[in-house]
Amino acid sequence: MMLMTSPDCLFCRIVRGEIPATIVHSTAKIIAFRDIAPKAPVHVLVIPRDHHADVAALAEADPALAGALLAAVGVVAAGEGIDVSGYRTIFNSGPDGGQEVAHVHAHVLGGAPLGTAIVP
Ligand code: 5GP
Ligand code: ZN
Repeated sequence: MMLMTSPDCLFCRIVRGEIPATIVHSTAKIIAFRDIAPKAPVHVLVIPRDHHADVAALAEADPALAGALLAAVGVVAAGEGIDVSGYRTIFNSGPDGGQEVAHVHAHVLGGAPLGTAIVP
């Protein structure tokens, strides 16, 4: 299968296996790995193997892949044992959104009560 990766993108490098990551879920289209600086007891990043800059770009370019990414969030939550206790899914976009890596990723956070604040 042809993958659309970007040479200098950090998460594309993880997709290509050039940078190690603790992968917790992997399919032909999606991988999920532990965040290197976890903000909660469970903090997993779920990404498409294809490079898309953010969630809006992904949904516009490949709606089926966007759906697969959302479905993978549920699979990861169940695999981490937080599907019943609950979790938060976050997509940051752009500078004001605090996006540091321009390869769309869902943050899946849980394993403890996260409170109700959406903005810290
Ligand atoms: P953003 O701020 O773009 O929404 O989130 C990027 C996330 O990637 C951050 O939570 C950061 O800790 C994580 N991160 C940055 N570099 C690496 C890395 O090399 N490996 C892993 N596993 N996570 C990373
Ligand atoms: Zn990328």
